[in-house]
Amino acid sequence: MNHKNSEKLYQKGLKHLVGAVNSPVRAFASVGGNPLFIKKAKGSKIVDVDANKYIDYVLSYGPMILGHRHKKVEKAIKKALKNGYTFGASTKNEIKLAKIVCDAFTGIDKVRFVNSGTEAVLSALRLARAYTGKDKIIKFSGCYHGHSDALLVAAGSGLATLSLPGSKGVPEGAVKNTLIANYNDIDSVKAHFDKHDDIAGVIIEPIAGNMGVVLPQENFLKELKDYLHSKNALLIIDEVMTGFRSKFGGAQEVLGVEADITCLGKVIGGGFPVGAYGARNEIMEMVAPLGGMYQAGTLSGNPIAMAAGIATLTELKKQNPYQKFEEVALWLENTLLEKANKHNIDIVVNRFGSMINPFFTKGKVTNFEEAQQSDTEKFAVFFWEMINSGIFLPPSQFEAWFLSSSLSEKDLEKTEKAIDKAMKAVAK
Ligand code: PLP
Repeated sequence: MNHKNSEKLYQKGLKHLVGAVNSPVRAFASVGGNPLFIKKAKGSKIVDVDANKYIDYVLSYGPMILGHRHKKVEKAIKKALKNGYTFGASTKNEIKLAKIVCDAFTGIDKVRFVNSGTEAVLSALRLARAYTGKDKIIKFSGCYHGHSDALLVAAGSGLATLSLPGSKGVPEGAVKNTLIANYNDIDSVKAHFDKHDDIAGVIIEPIAGNMGVVLPQENFLKELKDYLHSKNALLIIDEVMTGFRSKFGGAQEVLGVEADITCLGKVIGGGFPVGAYGARNEIMEMVAPLGGMYQAGTLSGNPIAMAAGIATLTELKKQNPYQKFEEVALWLENTLLEKANKHNIDIVVNRFGSMINPFFTKGKVTNFEEAQQSDTEKFAVFFWEMINSGIFLPPSQFEAWFLSSSLSEKDLEKTEKAIDKAMKAVAK
């Protein structure tokens, strides 16, 4: 497989783009080599500028749950395009998408659309502060909630990949109200409440996907919610990655816990820039124009994005692929373990619904510290072997692989062969 055209574009891109990418997770910093440049995608496949075809387990970091260019989504986008691109005024489809979201999440009466997961989360924090009248927020080490100042601490994802503890340029004042707790450790949350009486809430990835996939221990979220309510604080569940992906009603439906404020993104935009935050009426009524918490956006509720979101969620509901995701993920877990075992390699596989990834480590991975024990050099070897066998994975040990409903039996057979070859290469 050659990557000559990607290499050429990378060199060209370096002149006017930072690192030739528009998001650092797309750089191949921790696996070596240069980023691939993509030309097109359809269904379960993505094609680079050298005409190499890959089975796509990145899916644009989650949104493309139906696979690329689903015909119903594409039809809806084309139809919307004919009416205009953005109006700075309300449209019928905003109401339609809002209803789909509110019907899916029992804890959401009203929703506000924004343009990204980052915006959804930073607005949700402002709302939690507005509602409780308190300033501090607790986040968990290894959870990523977008790149707003207050949350760029111990943030997993690209920061973990680049081994950065936080970000330069974030003033001390911006993070002074951010407290860090350990995932799956309720005592580390309680310790903060023992010291501070102005904590507005806790934000959590219900299934962490940004330190690799890490699951909450049984009842962790329920216990957390009960404790927070006893302290008059809110549970903010960041379902930007898991919303409509773990189940139609998000990870909350699977785990049987309802957030006070829910953040959404990725899948709800069907591949276009959409985020959202929602909650019960009494909380959402704090938001302008009904209340005094200000949040706005020129392109929020963009008509093309709304059309793509409605078509994606409608088709997703019809397909109901969640049982199939479970079966494919179980098969993938067994395949990874079997091939690793065959070549004497230690791995741990974590998965939840359509999110999965292997960690090149022993034992178990239940938090960021354990995830960081992984051998990233082994991952790099594995990654490149997979690429060269036509399997597109995130270029980082600390990112989840995603499944789409467009994966075929043939794709899985090819994936199995590639994993065998890649594990063999790691063993060398
Ligand atoms: N929250 C979570 C859980 C995410 O995984 C991400 C992105 O990966 C974000 C928030 C930020 O979303 P965006 O990249 O759309 O700003």
